[in-house]
Amino acid sequence: MPESVKGGLVLILFGAPGSGKGTQARLLQEKLQLPHIATGDMLRERMRRADEQGERIRGLLEAGNLVTDDLITEMLAERTAEADCSRGFLLDGYPRTVAQAEWIFQCLAGRGMGWVVIHLKVDYNEIIRRLAGRRTCVRCGPVFHQANQPPVYGSGGELCGKCGTSLIVREDDREGVIRHRLAAYDESTKPVLDWMTAQGVPFREVDGAGQSPEEIAQRIVAGAKFA
Ligand code: ADP
Repeated sequence: MPESVKGGLVLILFGAPGSGKGTQARLLQEKLQLPHIATGDMLRERMRRADEQGERIRGLLEAGNLVTDDLITEMLAERTAEADCSRGFLLDGYPRTVAQAEWIFQCLAGRGMGWVVIHLKVDYNEIIRRLAGRRTCVRCGPVFHQANQPPVYGSGGELCGKCGTSLIVREDDREGVIRHRLAAYDESTKPVLDWMTAQGVPFREVDGAGQSPEEIAQRIVAGAKFA
């Protein structure tokens, strides 16, 4: 491991909703032996506690809006302070705003950690096709796609091939909401790319379509240069 990442390595997966950040993080988790920190999953878990904050998060997520920087940053700061993150982690879904980017790079530098930023680039038409066909198993998490990874059909409708639980369409994977999420990406998240360029934070662009997830993961690992 290079000298500069003695404090651990953080791989930041950046990209539009549906660009494959979660899929890549799950594949890379095994290859790199680092925990997968997905802010969307953290929020969905928090929202299942049906208290006031959980309901507020649900309202934002189901409408395709971002949650506030303070809330997500506080959750992330707590999670990444846990022992399993001391060697580094895979970050999926953060930073999504310039304020979040300012926080994370300062935090990692303060902790003596190195980082690699990968921008997964995928065309919006492909994203809409992917997300609108996405099916999620609420129990074991894998995500099925009607076309690429078809579910098992049973008396309960579409079922998870692994545990038999019914599959759901995430509220925010409905077409109107997908468009809203893409608009939020354009407005709040894309500017992070310009910010990184202006700040001299290097990032690598990787084509997130046209190849199998495994091939894309291999390209990410092969080309990773540690900051
Ligand atoms: P996707 O990347 O496909 O949009 P996620 O599961 O990562 O899916 O995120 C789902 C939702 O969670 C987002 O649309 C947003 O509302 C919220 N969210 C996740 N990460 C953040 C973040 N860093 N800042 C603000 N909101 C977030």
